[in-house]
Amino acid sequence: MYNKSISLFQRAQESIPGGVNSPVRAFKSVGGTPVFIEKAKGAYLYDADGNRYIDYIASWGPMILGHAYEPVVKAIQEKAVLSTSYGAPTELEIEMAELIKSMAPNVDLIRMVSSGTEACMSALRLARGYTGRNKFIKFEGCYHGHADAFLVKAGSGLATFDIQTVPGITGGVSNDTLTCAYNDLTAVESLVAAHKNEIAAIIIEPVAGNMGCILPQPGFIEGIRKICNEEGIVFIFDEVMTGFRLAAGGAQEVLQVDADLVTYGKVIGAGMPVGAFGGKRAIMEKIAPLGNVYQAGTLSGNPIAMIAGYTLLNELKNNPSLYQELNDKTAYLHEGLNQVLAASEIPYVINRKGSMISIHFSEQPVTDFASAAAANNSLFNKYFHAMLKRGIYLPPSAFESWFLNNALSYADLDATIQATAESLAEVV
Ligand code: PLP
Repeated sequence: MYNKSISLFQRAQESIPGGVNSPVRAFKSVGGTPVFIEKAKGAYLYDADGNRYIDYIASWGPMILGHAYEPVVKAIQEKAVLSTSYGAPTELEIEMAELIKSMAPNVDLIRMVSSGTEACMSALRLARGYTGRNKFIKFEGCYHGHADAFLVKAGSGLATFDIQTVPGITGGVSNDTLTCAYNDLTAVESLVAAHKNEIAAIIIEPVAGNMGCILPQPGFIEGIRKICNEEGIVFIFDEVMTGFRLAAGGAQEVLQVDADLVTYGKVIGAGMPVGAFGGKRAIMEKIAPLGNVYQAGTLSGNPIAMIAGYTLLNELKNNPSLYQELNDKTAYLHEGLNQVLAASEIPYVINRKGSMISIHFSEQPVTDFASAAAANNSLFNKYFHAMLKRGIYLPPSAFESWFLNNALSYADLDATIQATAESLAEVV
């Protein structure tokens, strides 16, 4: 059933480290062979052996309206014949910036880059340049891309593979990265007090998706906002996952808390390599060529990437009911999973915000990295394979959020709930 994927994976390992271009794709922690994808349409992925999967990864977030979404595909095709890159400004970049500003709160100025990593790395440099301070706080289990400063107690693949420290990152860099447990406001207060006037920024996933889905407890984000105001610290919302997914205005809109800087990725590029960072004018004006905090990119604002993202964001802006539809579908899935899991008597926690959801096989609430790591993640790995066999493509790690896309039908959701019931019966 996976013959072609198995032989492709063997071949891939001859030329690509671990056979993949991004580690979690290798299925290393869940075991087995990654399925090699040939094409996708709507809510479905098709692998090299012709198997069809209902997709809950959505390319790790971007494909919010489903794969090969026709307006996006058509817009890319029309743009591509005009050349794939100019390295000079275009009107489309202005339109993209104006569109983002019309959707996202607190974005006076926005700079396009080519990945979420670049967006976060650049926002951190900017916060340091703006404040003249070196240290920053991040939260255990949050992932802000693979720039050196962020790979301390990071989530996503580092949590999946239990990588605590990353060789190649100097002490000089990682010593400036301070960490706290997610949802522990007292720890933030203590850290800030211990490093008075040294902290440039606090960066957070306002809804975390890189240790499974973890929600901020009431008052947590608000409390950090207050500390940042009092201490002159730049509050960075990493909205690479949540931006344009939880709502047109992302987590800022949903949580009703303002960021000073915000980073985007994933949905903003509709599956093309796009990221962005933006925020309050006084801070953003420090970026070159206005200021001397240098940041640049050969392919930044690339016309194909811009037209893809612009087309998708326009659809989302002009059809706000899409968010309601997507959230209703995710709530339906949540309820169905709750019923089969409760009937199975396996201890579990389902966390959900909007169209981000995940299951932890845990007896206690999952509110931070420690509780996510304490869950029965070997059971998750078995559940993952039982689901894959039934045509349901989940993230191959309990340390990742699932992302729903609006092409999913209620029949797909029912099939997923039914597959969960069968899978649990098989793996327990
Ligand atoms: N920030 C968050 C919250 C992410 O989830 C990710 C990637 O998953 C990144 C940053 C890095 O984005 P990219 O993989 O596009 O570099």
